[in-house]
This record gives sequence, structure tokens and C-alpha cells, in this order.
Amino acid sequence: MVHRIHNFNPGPCALPLPVLEKAAAEMFDYKGTGMSVMEVSHRSAEFDEIINDAGLLMKDLLGVPESYHVLFLGGGASTQFYFIPMNFLGGGTADYVNTGSWSKKAIKEAGLYGTVNIAGTSEETNFNFIPKQEGLKLTADAKYVHYTSNNTIFGTEFHYVPETGNVPLICDMSSDIMSRPVDVSKFGLIYAGAQKNLGPSGVTAVVVSDELIEAGAEDIPTMTQYRTHAGKNSLFNTPPCWNIYILKLFLEWVKDEGGLAEMNARAQKKADLIYGAIDEMGNFYKGHAEVDSRSRMNATFNLPTEEMEKQFVAEAAKEGLGGVKGHRSVGGIRISMYNATAIESVKAVVDLMEDFRGKNK
Ligand SMILES: *Cc1c(COP(=O)(O)O)cnc(C)c1O
Repeated sequence: MVHRIHNFNPGPCALPLPVLEKAAAEMFDYKGTGMSVMEVSHRSAEFDEIINDAGLLMKDLLGVPESYHVLFLGGGASTQFYFIPMNFLGGGTADYVNTGSWSKKAIKEAGLYGTVNIAGTSEETNFNFIPKQEGLKLTADAKYVHYTSNNTIFGTEFHYVPETGNVPLICDMSSDIMSRPVDVSKFGLIYAGAQKNLGPSGVTAVVVSDELIEAGAEDIPTMTQYRTHAGKNSLFNTPPCWNIYILKLFLEWVKDEGGLAEMNARAQKKADLIYGAIDEMGNFYKGHAEVDSRSRMNATFNLPTEEMEKQFVAEAAKEGLGGVKGHRSVGGIRISMYNATAIESVKAVVDLMEDFRGKNK
């Protein structure tokens, strides 16, 4: 047996072992080519098959309608923070919901290309809740509405899809894509850096309606126009080939395991375990997020003292639990449990929480 830890890294993060095994088995000789996927041409029949399969799996698993394109782009989700306003804002107004660090970064870029209306925010309380639909102050003629469906750092998650009427809805789904079924037809564009729920870092999946692709600006650099990549099956230039290959293996694994219905059931189980423990030991572990805004992907909580938090991280490491330290903007502990995180790993954390409290209360 290979040595593997219980990996709670927030991203890059755990990948399913079968994905790594398959990649290892195909490393030196991919399908009889005598080359690894890193060495084949992106114009080859082999790579064509990989990128086509990856796209088909995205469409199949997410239920993407015919009138959308799936793109695989370089530069990470952060590149989409400026691609989006560059393409669609053009001096107009866009509505942004500000639910944390990633939203703020997206807002900053949008400000370079037009007016940003903050349609809702939880900044005053260190982003511990998700604004409700009734509270959103939407602009009637906005170019689009942007939100971050899961706030990786703060541990909050939208449990509804905002209603925006005729205004296109754009979502940064980097840290909860593929963790539950979504109605893609409600969105103009969905994007996700792959390194949380889809695979390795360095490739970003974009699902975008043909209508928005058409509406995009034409007086911006070729590489920043969605139509460029849509028209060339994401092969306008050399894409992150290896990353797309691992993403494809990851999606095959999701499908084999039972698709989004199964990922959804597992996410709920994992979240129930961890939040159950937090609630049961509420005088010791304090959850950061309000109960109805809790993320199923990242559970954030604090211990009675900072010293104890340090000790907890150290004890976790001793038990083979890695990546549990919280982000500096919340402190404390963050347990990230994406698609590839096993239920057993979350059980190991709960065991540690009980044990640690027993020794320190
Ligand atoms: C990790 C993350 C990002 C940043 O992704 P990069 O690929 O590093 O640019 C953006 N948004 C969310 C919600 C994230 O979790």
C-alpha cells in the first residue's frame, strides 16, 4: 500500500487514488504512442480524443444544454476575473455579490472596465453568511450578475441560485462545481479553476452560452475573447494538455462513482458529520459560518484559544491529517472536503475533534 494522508488541503487538494494510478500506468507510454501525454502534440488524434472526451464528460455530468460551449482555458480562475468584464462589461454596470476574498478580487478587476454595483455583501461580519435573494439590490439593466457559489476561505456557500430575470448570471464555481446537480440553463457563464473539484491547477473549465459568446467584445486581444476558444475547441493555442488529461480522468472517476447525484449525497454526508461534531461540541468548537450559509466543501471553525488551534494542527499532522489550518483571514481550522475527499477522512477528523476536546476542555 502506498502512503497516503487524510488530505484536507483547500486547493490544490486531494485527487482520487484511481486517477493517480491510471495516470501513473499511462505515464511512459500513452496508448501505445511511446510517449506520455505531456509529450504528444496537442494537434494529435490522441489529444483530440482527450479534450473531446473531457468536454463530453463536462456536458454529460452537468447536463449542459446544446446551446453552450465548454472551454478549457489556462491562467486559473483568476484570469476569468478580468476576461468576464473585458468581454461583457464595456463601460456598463455589473452587479456583484461580495461574499469573500475571491469575490473581492473579481470586483477589483471589473472596476477596470465599468461600474460595479455591490448587490449584496457580508463583509461587515467577516463574510460569515450568504445574502438572501430578497436582500439583493439588482440593477435592472446590468450587463450581468456575478457571484461566488462557494467561499473557499470563509466556508460559506450559496444554497440557492439567484434569480436575475433577463440579466445573464455568471458564477465562479471553482470550489463547489460537480458537488451537486445544477440547472446550467439558468447561467450565462460558469467558470471553475480545476484544482478543487475537477483535477489539477492550471486549467479552468468555462461553460458559456453561445449567446454570451456572440455578445462578447471584439476589440480586445484575440486570446481574451471567448469566441476564439469556442471556435477552436480550446485549441487556438497550446492548452494545458496534461491538466486537461487529468481532469478527464477525474471526470471519468466521478461518472464511475455515480455522477453528481452520488457526489451530492457524499457531500451532504461529509458536511453532516463535521457540522454535527461542531454543533455537539459547540462550547469548544465555534463554527464561523451562520448555520444556513454553511459550506459543504469547506468547514471553518475556531477553538477556545489560538494556542489550542496550533496544537490541534500539530496533533492532526501526527495522526496523518494534513491541510487543516485555517486561512489567515478567519484563523482557526478549515476542513476542506471536495469530491475526492473520502468519508473516512472526515470521520478521522471528527474522531480527532472528540479526542482533542476530551483532553483539553
Ligand atoms: C481557488 C479559487 C480561485 C482561484 O483560482 P486560481 O486558479 O488560483 O486562479 C477563485 N475562486 C474561488 C472560489 C476559488 O476557490
